[in-house]
Amino acid sequence: MRAPAHDLLFTPLQIGPKTAKNRFYQVPHCNGGGYRDPSAVVEMRRTKAEGGWGVIFTEQTEIHPTSEITPFIEQHLWDDRDIPALARMAEAMKSHGALAGIQLAYSGINGPNLYSREVPLAVTGGPILTFTSDPVQARTMDLDDIRNLRRWFRNAFRRSQRAGFDLVCLYGAHGFGILQHFLSRATNHRTDAYGGSLENRARFLREVVEDFREETRGEMALTLRLSLHEAGALGFSNAELRDFIAMHADLPDLWDLAQGTWEDCSGTSRFTPEAAQEDLVRGIKALTSKPVVGVGRFTSPDEMVRQIRSGVLDFIGAARPSIADPFLPVKVQEGRYEDIRECIGCNICVSGDMTQGISRCTQNTAFMEEWRKGWHPERARIKGAAEHVLVVGAGPAGLEAALQAAKRGYRVTLAEAGATLGGRVSRERALPGLSAWGRVADYRIGQLQPMAHVQIYRDSALTAEDLLTLDAQHIAIATGARWRPDAVARLHLAPIPTDPAMPVYTPDDLMAGSGPSGQRVALYDDDHFYMGSVLAELLVARGCSVDFITPAAKVAEWAENTLEQARIMRRLLEIGVTIHMSKAPEAVGAREITLGCCWTGQTSTLPAEALVYVTARRPTDALYHAAAALDWQGAGIRSLQRIGDCAAPGPIAWATYAGRAWAEGLDAPDTGLPGDVLPFRREIAALLDAPRLTP
Ligand code: ADP
Ligand code: SF4
Repeated sequence: MRAPAHDLLFTPLQIGPKTAKNRFYQVPHCNGGGYRDPSAVVEMRRTKAEGGWGVIFTEQTEIHPTSEITPFIEQHLWDDRDIPALARMAEAMKSHGALAGIQLAYSGINGPNLYSREVPLAVTGGPILTFTSDPVQARTMDLDDIRNLRRWFRNAFRRSQRAGFDLVCLYGAHGFGILQHFLSRATNHRTDAYGGSLENRARFLREVVEDFREETRGEMALTLRLSLHEAGALGFSNAELRDFIAMHADLPDLWDLAQGTWEDCSGTSRFTPEAAQEDLVRGIKALTSKPVVGVGRFTSPDEMVRQIRSGVLDFIGAARPSIADPFLPVKVQEGRYEDIRECIGCNICVSGDMTQGISRCTQNTAFMEEWRKGWHPERARIKGAAEHVLVVGAGPAGLEAALQAAKRGYRVTLAEAGATLGGRVSRERALPGLSAWGRVADYRIGQLQPMAHVQIYRDSALTAEDLLTLDAQHIAIATGARWRPDAVARLHLAPIPTDPAMPVYTPDDLMAGSGPSGQRVALYDDDHFYMGSVLAELLVARGCSVDFITPAAKVAEWAENTLEQARIMRRLLEIGVTIHMSKAPEAVGAREITLGCCWTGQTSTLPAEALVYVTARRPTDALYHAAAALDWQGAGIRSLQRIGDCAAPGPIAWATYAGRAWAEGLDAPDTGLPGDVLPFRREIAALLDAPRLTP
């Protein structure tokens, strides 16, 4: 039964001419699929509808080719041909009574137009402001351009309505949308009626809202997504935002407030706690009669109720919590709190957008595979012919494999060598800032434990011979990986000369509690994600002075994709870590390291009492190879596979995905030609007529 206090989350609330059935509001979020993978995005949104969200939004939808953010893949609404895919999305969103919203964006000074090749138009011209420093400038819009842009917005409103959406969100947050560029003195240096005073800077927005009301005949609702605080002396600050809302209290039908930059708004759990925006939002509701939505990686229903009861928010905005668990509202509604799959705040989902891959989620392995592979975040397909499966190793891969196989109806044996379940996350959760990562194990263990057809054995290091005696028809070896104790990774492909007198440690050593304390330590990071910087923090906490060496020109450069790179750099500098960029060890002496410059080859000497390598990992695959050498088919075993880090080490999300993929593939028809059939569905662009070239 649900706690009576949570009833509040299920009270309907009006947004202009529409009514949301509850307070669960999926704010716009990207997914790395966008216009390239229309049906994959549609089915992903449909799971949110099924999971009970009251409001569901698209990702950023670009309204005109004079403003697009290639290489990032969002949605397009450039002409009528974009309507059918978006109409399918609106239909999916509304399939269980949610309101369907579309976020419309014109990126102005943020859109380099690398695909459309149109000249970017901005409130005030200048270099395009992206973190990739594209060598492109925008020109300042004249009054004709502004009139045109109003018409382009009108076209987008009309097309959104034709596609069947209930709500339009105007994007003016994160530094990405032109509405913010008008409002902010940092990006608006105009001296005409659209610049100068706040009244003038808000003029374009007022005009567009008026156009919206007229174009949609008052039938659609309008939400305004604005930044809560833009940093910098000229930035659209929290104080100015409050002035703006006081002046325009009833302009939109709802205020959707998002923290400063995307990095601020989507902070990882390492740097940003749940409900981090509260101070910036509190009090805004008193300035307006319209509902307010804000985000904060909310996963606790008690916290959600507190936000509403204390008058901070009306709707609980969520992107990542809705990705990790599309069924969060239904689970709260039914009082199934223990089934909530909480977001761990790792931002692997964001990395899918940043890398133009397709997003994945560490916790929800079905995310963006709903249409491509027919996976569902809650339901599993019925099991095949086999009865009993064995999973060896209870890390993220093994736990997910066991859970998904059990959900399919197989009898599952899960054997773990150690006393603790969770594999790498049982160790990494103890590192500075990573405690939320333990949710990967906690959720899965919590689901597996009550299942009568699942047997979990701890302290059970299996041998290859053991595998043949357990009467399982399918076996997954998920025995993980160990960090290498040498420099071999990307830069060095072979070990470097090393004096054995130098104490050398790996991340596994440090996580096991050994390694240096109170010494001068060199840490070499050729991994480039989070582990190097987290261990630097750990070493500083142990009283070490740390020299952080990276062959890259940035620390933790892959963490750019999880929006953490700048935070990591700041943290390391703040705690006094000395950073050596574009450097790598060439030789290791007893008390010093020879560093080479990656550009010039010039060498220098760095004194060190210990060396920590964060380089590459080796699969722990001896058990797999030993078993593969036995006559396992003769013992009645139909498949023997290694999965997760044991197959190929990667981030935790890769391991949970591998566990799911194994369980989904059990008893699949044997084509006899492995890999000849594409393992997922995709959509291919329809061809138009060949061009006629004019002579
Ligand atoms: P992944 O990320 O692929 O899930 P982990 O390294 O997190 O991999 O987890 C692997 C788990 O497998 C660890 O908990 C480890 O103790 C366990 N393990 C390793 N070898 C054996 C074995 N022979 N029998 C049972 N469990 C094993
Ligand atoms: Fe949360 Fe990580 Fe999933 Fe993103 S990938 S929704 S941050 S658990």
